Amino acid sequence: MNFSSKLLQNAVEEFGRLPGVGKKTALRLVLHLLKQQDAEVARFTSSLNLLKEKIQYCKECYNISDEEVCEICLSVKRDKSTICVVEDTRDVMAIENTNQYQGVYHVLGGLISPMDGIGPSDLKIEGLIQRLRQGAVKEVILALSATMEGDTTIFYLYRKLKEFDVQVSTIARGIAFGGELEYVDEITLGRSILTRVPYERNVG
Ligand SMILES: [Zn+2]
Repeated sequence: MNFSSKLLQNAVEEFGRLPGVGKKTALRLVLHLLKQQDAEVARFTSSLNLLKEKIQYCKECYNISDEEVCEICLSVKRDKSTICVVEDTRDVMAIENTNQYQGVYHVLGGLISPMDGIGPSDLKIEGLIQRLRQGAVKEVILALSATMEGDTTIFYLYRKLKEFDVQVSTIARGIAFGGELEYVDEITLGRSILTRVPYERNVG
């Protein structure tokens, strides 16, 4: 791509670095922004700056949050004795959209993947163990994707959780379309949370 302007080229290259955005789309987006009013572009850039500057990870569940503790963990309506373990914040959003789950979450921030050099210590597993040590948790639902990494992580967590007096269950993962929770439709995902099964029975 030959650019008539270095400034244009820079902006297109930045957009092109985003996942799923090719050079042509990047150019279209940049030209679109260029046509907008100054105030509109300022709002766009400041939302990104604020996002990076202000966002936090909930110190209880590690979900993305505006405050030190997220709204879900703070809510008195949520059942703190049930923790649903998920890979990332998109899974929290997907499960929240089902309106079928009243417990709280624990966001691992990834899955164990030896191929990518991601081990248990790279994930928020210790934080989960700490929450269990406090003794109020009765059930841990492992809602991880039906992939090799998901399976590896579930197996690792199951062995870690065995020492605690908690029920460990998994959601029906055969239904996971494309293996990722976020792509499952809300009704199916909601149902699979309600009909979750103890992990032992699943592997047995
Ligand atoms: Zn939280």
